[in-house]
Amino acid sequence: MAAKDWNVTRRHGGSMCFNQDKVEITERIRKRIEEADLVLAGLGEELDVVRLVREDSWYQAKVQNIKNDWIIPYVEKLRIEQMAKGRCDMYKQLCFCLAQKNYFIVSVCQDDMIKGAGFDESRIVEPCGGHRKLQCSEKCSGELYEVPEKLLNQIKDFLDGKLTEEDLDEPLCPGCGKPLVFNNIGAANYVEEGYLNQWMRYKKWLQGTVNKNVCLLEIGVGMKYPTVIRWPFEKITFYNQKAELFRVHSKLYQMAEEIKERGYGICQKPEEFLKELSKGI
Ligand SMILES: [Zn+2]
Repeated sequence: MAAKDWNVTRRHGGSMCFNQDKVEITERIRKRIEEADLVLAGLGEELDVVRLVREDSWYQAKVQNIKNDWIIPYVEKLRIEQMAKGRCDMYKQLCFCLAQKNYFIVSVCQDDMIKGAGFDESRIVEPCGGHRKLQCSEKCSGELYEVPEKLLNQIKDFLDGKLTEEDLDEPLCPGCGKPLVFNNIGAANYVEEGYLNQWMRYKKWLQGTVNKNVCLLEIGVGMKYPTVIRWPFEKITFYNQKAELFRVHSKLYQMAEEIKERGYGICQKPEEFLKELSKGI
């Protein structure tokens, strides 16, 4: 596409919203990924299955009658796994696009879906945690614990009506005896040790982006945790003249005025965008 067309589009708000534009911009992003020295991807809450689960009527009906609140996150975990099944392709598509690149992914999703999609896990950081590990609710230590498989099976039986709440035992901290909770940002005393090593790795990787040709891809990132992806990505784009930022979101695709020349807001559902992006690679 000619640069002139881009200028015209930018004058009309800097954001792309029409079907024809979407195809063109997806092609441009694909090309940009190919050309870039480094690709930084940010995955946001629009992609998160946790959001879908909380809106899901089956889940809402089930948890409504649960008296012991500690059981609810386990029901949530099981429902995430069920609802995630149909969405695995999305991550595989992204993985396919980044396979040959020097990339890093920052994800605020808490559905753990990114694991197992084929990415190099040393190139992923999930600062908000997820539903993979447990931690002490009182944070008596930075220790993380496995989710007991037996309990998950019991929760399944409970949901099937084969067990009652009284048959289920809440997992307790081996250190202090207080309840264990999932290691994510929803914990009252979040154990950040779960992601800090990867965060250090990410920071180091970022140092290598200075003056490099960087493609930043922000997918489905809203305003829930703007300091994790949205604002830092804008900052990187502002300071690195060779960087370009593509922001895909169904509503919050608007771009900061300062980086409009190298920042593109794309009004599109993340899953549609990823499907389109992986075509022709
Ligand atoms: Zn403890």
